[in-house]
Formats: sequence, C-alpha cells, structure tokens
Amino acid sequence: MRYLLFFMLLSTHVMAHEKVVRTKADKLAFGKFTEQKHHPWPFALLSIGHNMQSYQDYSGSPYWHDGLDIRGQQEQSVFAAAGGKVVNIENYIHGNELYWEVAILDEEGFVWKYHHISKESITEEIKRSYQNGEKISEGTLIGNIVQWPMSSFGEVYHHLHLLVVAEDGRYINPFLMMEPLADTQAPVINRIGLAKNHKPIDGGQVAGEHALFVEASDLVMHKKFILPPHKISYRIDKGEEKLVWAFVNLPSGKNDIDFIEDFYMKGTCGDYSCRKLLFNLNFSPEKPRGVMSLPLGPHEVEVTVEDIVGNKATKTFKWNVI
Ligand SMILES: [Zn+2]
Repeated sequence: MRYLLFFMLLSTHVMAHEKVVRTKADKLAFGKFTEQKHHPWPFALLSIGHNMQSYQDYSGSPYWHDGLDIRGQQEQSVFAAAGGKVVNIENYIHGNELYWEVAILDEEGFVWKYHHISKESITEEIKRSYQNGEKISEGTLIGNIVQWPMSSFGEVYHHLHLLVVAEDGRYINPFLMMEPLADTQAPVINRIGLAKNHKPIDGGQVAGEHALFVEASDLVMHKKFILPPHKISYRIDKGEEKLVWAFVNLPSGKNDIDFIEDFYMKGTCGDYSCRKLLFNLNFSPEKPRGVMSLPLGPHEVEVTVEDIVGNKATKTFKWNVI
C-alpha cells in the first residue's frame, strides 16, 4: 500500500507540469529580439494559465515556467503562429504522451516550440516539412492539444505550452511575439513590507540591513490563474526609479532555475492549488539577495507593477529604521 501511494505521488509529480526540457531545436535559433511582433495567436484562447516568469514548485525544487500556457478547449486545434521549417517532432519526455513537441524555425531565426500536441493529431503537412525541409506558412494546422489529465483551481487545464527561442538558445517572452491581448485588468499590489534574511517580517520597524518585498498578482482573461506581473520597479524616498526586472527574458536564461529563489522570497508558492507571489525588490543578477542599509528614521517606497500591455498599479509603504 505504501509503495502504491509512493508510486502515485511520484507519477503525479512526473506528470505534474513542465520543467524545461531542451531539445535539438533550441540550438538552431539565431533570431535577435528588438521589438514587439504581431503574430496571430495559435487559436482563440480561453485564458493564460502561466507566463514565462511563473513560479513553479511541485516537488520542493522551484523553477521558472519559461513558456506561455495558452488555455484552449478540449482537443483544441493549434495553428502555426509563424511560418517556417519544421525542425523537430519529438516525444521529449520519452514514453509520456503528454509531452510531444513540434518546433518551427521561422525566417527571422526564432524557434517556436509547441508543447503538448497530441501525437496522433500531428498533420501530414507538418510531418512532410520535417522530412524534406519544405516551408509551411503561418496559419498551417499543426494538430490538437493533448487532453490534460489534471485540473487546476477546479478547472480543466487543456493548454498549449508555447516557447520561443532566440539567439544563444535563450527563451524570450512569447507575449512579445504575439498580437497584444485585449487585457484591461491591471495587476494588483496586495502588500509591501520589510524582509530580513530573505523572509518577509511584520510591521514597519527594522534595525540594520534589510530588504523589501512586494506581494503582487496579475490576471489575464481569468479570475483565478494568478500570474506574476511583467515589470516591477520602485523608488525609495522619492529618488530615482529602479527597475527590478522586466521579463523580456529571464534574469539568466541559461536554464530554468537560476535566480528563481532570489527573485521570489520565502513564502511564495506555485502549484495546482496554491499561487502566492512574494517578490524581492532588492533583486538584481549582480546582487541576487541584495540588502539596504538606510539612515535611521522614516523612509518610504513607491512600488509600480505593470502587465505586458501596460496596465499599471502603484502603492506606497512607509517604515522606520531604528
Ligand atoms: Zn506550461
């Protein structure tokens, strides 16, 4: 019985979600991202389930989500957002039918990786392009998304996990490749506070070196699937605006774990039933868990969070250094 339970837990985790799996298609990318593109969405989406900077922790080792979860209907047809050559068709988690990739290299050198396509549905045109290098055009039917066996927050979660690879194998934010969505919901700042040893503390008084955190969330066409904002910035004591990060790509981009536990503070969660996002305002790739030593007395921070289409929220927090 115990073994059975263990096996069930293990298989749930294996199937749970997608950690980044690099495939041979990644090495073919040479595109340089310079400005927002306007490709059509691969289908009429229901909502966004996760974005590139989403925090994922299904088994105690957190990672960045990297791709964009585009939620669709059951057996949703998927159409190529950009034309090009099919450069990979692969069962990238071998033996698990949920994890098939169709990858397309477009003319600008970006590799579009369509994950969770059902194998049986991959069209002859896509297979032919993979075999003989023939180009397919934008809007070509790729196949259907696979039936996702797990639900999240009480909802079915059939989705396409879309990744876009640029030069040096870096993933870039797929939102920046697509026609901007009609998203009018601004992100929300739930609270701002002090932190010691990378952990939020209560109250508005602190002694010595400390950091600041913000709890914030964004929603795209949905009420429950909380996402991290696109951009976080702040000003201390009405000084210069400092950018924490804007997610054109991830802070390192070399893999799916670098800096995740520095950018997000202790107390963050992200799985099928818990999403709570605490951001470290003092994060930078140079000083991942940077701290401040401010003069004694009162201070004020003004935090701004912004979504990908430019909706913003701002909130201030005051504290005393004693
Ligand atoms: Zn995903």
